[in-house]
Amino acid sequence: MRDRPVYVIGAGTPLVGTLAFGIVDRGTNVVEVRPTSLCSLNCVFCSVNAGPLSRARWAEYVVEPEALLAALEEVVRFKNTGDLEVHIDGMGDPGLFKDLAELVRGAKAIPGVAVVSMQTRLYMLDVERIRELAAAGLDRFNVSIDAMDPQLAKKLAGADWYDVELVFSRVKTALEAGINVVISPVWVPGLNDAEMPRIVKWAVEHGVGRGGTPVLIQKYIPHKRGRRVKTRPMSWGEFWKRLREMERELGVALIPKPGEYRIHKAPELPKPYRVGDYVTVEVVGRGIFKGELLAVPTSRRGTAIWDRVMTLVLGSGASEDMVGRRMRVKVIEDSHNIYIARPAGR
Ligand code: SF4
Repeated sequence: MRDRPVYVIGAGTPLVGTLAFGIVDRGTNVVEVRPTSLCSLNCVFCSVNAGPLSRARWAEYVVEPEALLAALEEVVRFKNTGDLEVHIDGMGDPGLFKDLAELVRGAKAIPGVAVVSMQTRLYMLDVERIRELAAAGLDRFNVSIDAMDPQLAKKLAGADWYDVELVFSRVKTALEAGINVVISPVWVPGLNDAEMPRIVKWAVEHGVGRGGTPVLIQKYIPHKRGRRVKTRPMSWGEFWKRLREMERELGVALIPKPGEYRIHKAPELPKPYRVGDYVTVEVVGRGIFKGELLAVPTSRRGTAIWDRVMTLVLGSGASEDMVGRRMRVKVIEDSHNIYIARPAGR
């Protein structure tokens, strides 16, 4: 990674509170588990500005599997629903997490966890590792493939070495190993329009989706911190209209039926802090993006249900010299327990 440290996050850092690593609970029976922010690609539309060529990031994270599983177990127990899905994803590609099989096995063993799924580009998982994940209990891969044309796929991935044909062969391996696959391309108008029906046809021919929606096309949305493509993004109305047209042309469902993923509300973790609260924190490292630091409240309870990590936004004033310093901060965002704060008095 270009000039940026990779922090190994252990039990000493709360694992709820940031999108960059750990656990994200949005109040449903799907819990997002984020073991790493690392990614080897540089997709031209990446909403989280990942990859070795990113100029926006200045840190990466890898979480120790034991700490992640211990926190996950607490969260699952708290949510107390018998049909929980653990979805392994993140601001990078979890396929690069070396302890993935241990994570899947551990998650599947937690009482109440019914499904373990993950988002990945799959190129990094060879046949042996895919079989290992199947044995560990992985139920589904959501595989991002944005083009069948090999040259266009390289261009969209921002990497010459990216081999989409290898990815298709790994999709077949996963299906043979008993792991369901759903393909999730990002549709960037003007760049890969013609690729969408080609991907859908390939997916249907190869049994992707096991009878459910085989391809979940994602609308390209420019994000504030993400990489942007020079194109006119579709409106939601236009996107749904074009998906329905494609459904009719191909005779394939592309919009999941209500209830297909069995997602429902489930108790959300309590919010120990609210927007406007003042909190004393200790700076523990860099935040994922330049101008940000990671901070942890000085008073903690020793449980994932209540302990939080925060992102401290300082802009050009952010410096690694501040690590170890204590300060008063004001919470400015608290949505779904993702905490953004800035120094008090600013
Ligand atoms: S879109 Fe996904 S695979 Fe591509 S650079 Fe971003 S995190 Fe990596």
